[in-house]
Amino acid sequence: MDFEERKLTIDDFSLLKVVGKGSYGTVMLARKDDTDEVLAIKMLEKSDLKKRRQEVHIMSERTILETIDHPFIVSLRYAFQNSEKLYFCLEFCPGGELFYHLQRVESFNEEVARFYSAQMILALEHLHKHNVIYRDLKPENVLINTDGYIKLTDFGLAKENIVTDKDAQSFCGTPEYLAPEILLRKGHGKPVDWWSLGSIIYEMIVGLPPFYQNDDKDKLFKDIKYGEPEYPEEMSPACKDLLQGLFKKDPGERLGGSKSNADEIKSHPWYSQVDWEIIKEKKIIPPFKPDLDSDDDTKYIDSEFTDMLPIDSAADGAVLDSGSLTWKDFSFDSNKMMTD
Ligand code: ADP
Ligand code: MG
Repeated sequence: MDFEERKLTIDDFSLLKVVGKGSYGTVMLARKDDTDEVLAIKMLEKSDLKKRRQEVHIMSERTILETIDHPFIVSLRYAFQNSEKLYFCLEFCPGGELFYHLQRVESFNEEVARFYSAQMILALEHLHKHNVIYRDLKPENVLINTDGYIKLTDFGLAKENIVTDKDAQSFCGTPEYLAPEILLRKGHGKPVDWWSLGSIIYEMIVGLPPFYQNDDKDKLFKDIKYGEPEYPEEMSPACKDLLQGLFKKDPGERLGGSKSNADEIKSHPWYSQVDWEIIKEKKIIPPFKPDLDSDDDTKYIDSEFTDMLPIDSAADGAVLDSGSLTWKDFSFDSNKMMTD
């Protein structure tokens, strides 16, 4: 074979803009020089991951992204590394975060919330079928794609091999969206995702998460464990009933907490008009479709990010790579042309 295998590096891309920052990663819009394809590259520093003991989480993120293929989950094109950093090259979702859109209008009507949440249910159902829990459903991690349909991104807290409701132990997630069983440290499983589904549906309709405290984390955690959210009077009875089912403190009693998992939620009256196949096939006109001028248009991304300089600070190969064994299986190419 005269094709010479070569490892991908960050030099194979032109970095265009910063499009996001999470608690671990910086995400940049980039163009792959040889093919012109536009991608979102999530960059993570190995030393930071080590310090914050995130190595196992990140390797799960990497494995899950490779394994899972679903219309409402972001897909991984390549993964590569140098001595200092890890790079995930993901398909770019130019419609921005659901959070960005929600913030602008304060709240969505129930119809819009139903449309987006139906896709979240299908994505979570698919993950759960693969015994993966997502654990980080929140408006910052739900992106809108070119077609106006969603993609879940950020599998940094996702966990594999979850069969029972006790299989996961670690205390992790975003405070406002944590399920009570995570706070009680009793072990948790798939129902945590249905709790956070309830939180995001509530937030889309009301404008704030169901349990929310500006500064007082103790009060927040107490409310999640023992309190009940307030429901606005104008909320439809079916919606309130759905949310009350998703906010059951006991994961076994929670809607979706039984063996039937997502089916129990999909057959709830609030979704009675939803044809799940038609949603999956994207045959419904979305409430909003991004109006894009080019494949690298970032008009739906907060200027807080796009005003930053898109530079990769790592000097490739300069530092001794102490974690090389940890990251041995990180690199990946969806075209299967190159391996590490
Ligand atoms: P962290 O694990 O640090 O939270 P994320 O994976 O959530 O990192 O990425 C941070 C932010 O970058 C996201 O909230 C989102 O705004 C943006 N982002 C992530 N992936 C993409 C993508 N594929 N397309 C567009 N923006 C993205
Ligand atoms: Mg995130």
